Amino acid sequence: MQRRQLLQLLGATAVAAAYGRSAAAARSADHVVVIGAGILGASIAYHLVKRGAKVTILEKSAPASGTTGDSFAYLNASTKSSSRPYYELNARGMAGWRRWQLDFGGALPLQWGGAIYWRDEAAATEKLLTTLRTVQEWGYPARRIDERELHDLLPKASLGRVDGAVVYEEEGVVDPVGAVQVLLDRAKSLGATLKFPVEVTGIDVAGDRVRGVKTTEGTIAADTVVVAAGLGSQWLAQSLDVKLPLVASNGVLIHTAPQPKLLDSVVFAPASTIKQSANGRIVSSSGHEGSSDGSDLQQQGQRILANAARYFPTLKDAKIERVSNGQRVLPQDGFPVLGYAPKIGNLYLAVTHSGITLAPAIGQFATQEILDGIAPDSLAPFRPSRFA
Ligand SMILES: Cc1cc2nc3c(=O)[nH]c(=O)nc-3n(C[C@H](O)[C@H](O)[C@H](O)COP(=O)(O)OP(=O)(O)OC[C@H]3O[C@@H](n4cnc5c(N)ncnc54)[C@H](O)[C@@H]3O)c2cc1C
Repeated sequence: MQRRQLLQLLGATAVAAAYGRSAAAARSADHVVVIGAGILGASIAYHLVKRGAKVTILEKSAPASGTTGDSFAYLNASTKSSSRPYYELNARGMAGWRRWQLDFGGALPLQWGGAIYWRDEAAATEKLLTTLRTVQEWGYPARRIDERELHDLLPKASLGRVDGAVVYEEEGVVDPVGAVQVLLDRAKSLGATLKFPVEVTGIDVAGDRVRGVKTTEGTIAADTVVVAAGLGSQWLAQSLDVKLPLVASNGVLIHTAPQPKLLDSVVFAPASTIKQSANGRIVSSSGHEGSSDGSDLQQQGQRILANAARYFPTLKDAKIERVSNGQRVLPQDGFPVLGYAPKIGNLYLAVTHSGITLAPAIGQFATQEILDGIAPDSLAPFRPSRFA
């Protein structure tokens, strides 16, 4: 290497190191309070503390005890084909999970087995193929498969009639509770404080600035407050006159006792959605994230199991350990609410459906906004101000 090149390289490294140090040092006194220890709070806290911020996470119940604990946790962008910006954000979320896999090694309970869909009648197939074509045009790895390949991919399945099938090769699933645990453990090892059960009962504001939060354990001062409180976010926002409309929506899932290995992929059969976690447990719903029909939850669970057993007969006698009736965190227009609250300079909102897929991207973007003052273009369609 020429001497001049070497000096340039050393100079660039020194500048980068100095910038990194001064950026971190300038912000190291900042205290960020994150409300909520679901997947979004855990992600944002992890990203912030990794960058040197002083972080306190407050959780009113226990980590992952909200919507996150009842999530199907399918990591995908293919079901977001109605909006290109939303699709792009989800694709970034998926890439973020791969980045996290490098950060955490094998500790994250992730499976990248792809997703397999098939349909048994023409109208449903047409819908499936419309989605496929849209996301393929956007560059997503996906393809139509024939019945023989479907059999090869799911050798233990009893497929029934197959009208059309597709595979999304880079999609995956995660155990959301295990992932929150991994994120919070790392955040704590980097210096974050996690307090639970501590409920935030109010936000302390002076003029257009938040000064801290009122909690069941007294007032805690903060330079920035992040509201990642899932369903609890609406009340917290409204207490400051910030509009954050959510709509009620639920999804019933069964969680079985561990089963012998059946699946590597997440399966979207005509009447059932099924995944098998690394620990062998089957998680299933009727339809994608199926809604409750209002009847007895245990009976719904039995019907969900019967639907899954249509396609995987060995599941017929599987023991259901839990039937969950998860409440989605669903903004009124279906899209994420991300960014500073209108008129309040240091109150950051992170509220969304598909929060498992999106968590790594939201953690990264929120941290850049809070610590670097950057407003990423990708978040422009998702600002809280659209409800103001
Ligand atoms: C049935 C179902 C299936 C789903 N499937 C998928 C899927 O396949 N893929 C996907 O990406 N997403 C899926 N989702 C959506 C995803 O699970 C959620 O978007 C995500 O879990 C939201 O995480 P969160 O951290 O925002 O909220 P939560 O997990 O609810 O966390 C918020 C936390 O804040 C705490 N809290 C609330 N108020 C306060 C307060 N005042 N003080 C202190 N703490 C407070 C709560 O106790 C809670 O622990 C699904 C959701 C459901 C219900």
